[in-house]
Amino acid sequence: MIAESLKQVLSELPAGVRLVAVSKFHPNEALEEAYRAGQRIFGESKVQEMTAKHESLPKDIEWHFIGHLQTNKVKYIVPYVSLIHGIDSYRLLEEVNRQAAKVDRNICCLLQLHIAQEETKFGFSFEECRAMLEAGEWKELTHVRICGLMGMASNTDNVEQIRKEFGSLSSFFHELKETWFASDNSFKELSMGMSHDYHEAIAAGSTLVRVGSKIFGERVY
Ligand SMILES: *Cc1c(COP(=O)(O)O)cnc(C)c1O
Repeated sequence: MIAESLKQVLSELPAGVRLVAVSKFHPNEALEEAYRAGQRIFGESKVQEMTAKHESLPKDIEWHFIGHLQTNKVKYIVPYVSLIHGIDSYRLLEEVNRQAAKVDRNICCLLQLHIAQEETKFGFSFEECRAMLEAGEWKELTHVRICGLMGMASNTDNVEQIRKEFGSLSSFFHELKETWFASDNSFKELSMGMSHDYHEAIAAGSTLVRVGSKIFGERVY
């Protein structure tokens, strides 16, 4: 079942788009099935859960943290995490840098932008993000790399709305690329698209889709 839906999703991804299999709240057996089918990138949104899975599952898995990360928990994931998708404040980026320095790692991070209409989603506004980059302090952080942007569209059936939101994030990505990262090859990821909207996200230029329920089924909380 999992292997089949995984293959189905993979078959829909154009070259240059990678799949983050979002396995939060699913047991190790579910991840193992996806692993046996060839999947190596898994996304989790809880620090304790991801750390437990990291300890018990194969070592060649790339762990992506996709949830809201609290500064006091950064230290638990920094030794092994591959990519942190949800950097939503400068303070958090600084803390990742500080903890990464302790374990001598350089960690790829995505800045999370608030593009949905809902109040509840985390992330910088475009203005806040521009101001943070203008301030320039991030350039002194030697143990993190800003590898791109992440965003979540509104949870709606209005496809036009979703397209508009992904389009705005994609334009912003190009603005930042030209302004701050033109000569930085690390700045290349645009993480957008979930089970119900990854086709729209890909059309808008996503390079990393985060798909959970379409592969693993509904989550039990
Ligand atoms: C849970 C989650 C996903 C996956 O959602 P599905 O609808 O199950 O595909 C993607 N991104 C983030 C940030 C999530 O928290």
